[in-house]
Amino acid sequence: MQRPIPVLMYHHVSPKPGLVTVSPENFRAHMAWLAEHGWRSLTAAEFAACLAGAPVPKRAVLITFDDGYLDNWVYAHPVLAEFGLHAVLFLITGWIGEGEVRAHAGQGQPVPDVPDHKGAMAAGRAWQDAADPVPLDGAFLRWSEVHAMRDAGTFEFHSHTHSHTRWDKTIADQDARDRALSDDLAASRATLAARLGNGSAHLCWPQGYYDAAYQRVAQAAGFRHLYTTEAGVARGDTDPARIPRIVVKDKPAGWFASRLRLYGNPLTAALYLGLKGRK
Ligand SMILES: [Zn+2]
Repeated sequence: MQRPIPVLMYHHVSPKPGLVTVSPENFRAHMAWLAEHGWRSLTAAEFAACLAGAPVPKRAVLITFDDGYLDNWVYAHPVLAEFGLHAVLFLITGWIGEGEVRAHAGQGQPVPDVPDHKGAMAAGRAWQDAADPVPLDGAFLRWSEVHAMRDAGTFEFHSHTHSHTRWDKTIADQDARDRALSDDLAASRATLAARLGNGSAHLCWPQGYYDAAYQRVAQAAGFRHLYTTEAGVARGDTDPARIPRIVVKDKPAGWFASRLRLYGNPLTAALYLGLKGRK
């Protein structure tokens, strides 16, 4: 039986509660549990190698974040640094700001206020529509912070498109829609290459939406590993064009441990997912 690789999905780590937000206390408890129980957080390259047939290590997990919120720097980065863990962050590459690195938790300095999910997404959209970087600045990361996290080894960065646009909802004509998505993905890859000096073959779909045309466009743009919001556990034989993830809830270590035990064990993961699939 294939050894599973749970792919965890986080968005916000913040004291402002919300549906896709985990509190700093619970996030720290999750990461502490992983570290104390000998789990290894893979890099995207290690994960890709497993999907290509490399042996899957025991207790291997891929920690992912979507969007690129300021709170990832303020609250998640110091916790990952504390426990020597590593996460993959899918950036909306057009929404990352300029300026100096801001304070993060644990430095004994006041930290910036971070908006909740609704506030952050509204700021991102307003910025995109107005092309005015000012309102965006309090919600999303700056490139200086992206560099600091990369240099610390807490995060690596991949694509969540350049504009987080659902082209399937905005353009009816198939060819025009494919071109818009293709341009969006090309802009994202070019931005990652210019800012970080590396291309990326890892793409996460905005709002989890994709179809066969989306997959074709992404693969033509050079993205081989496509991350979904479909529930499930990756294994060595998982299709890289359809990587399932596990939503991490704002719950304490006991809940997190039960999920990891369930999904981390080949037998119970297969049973559980088989049951879910039959619904
Ligand atoms: Zn997103």
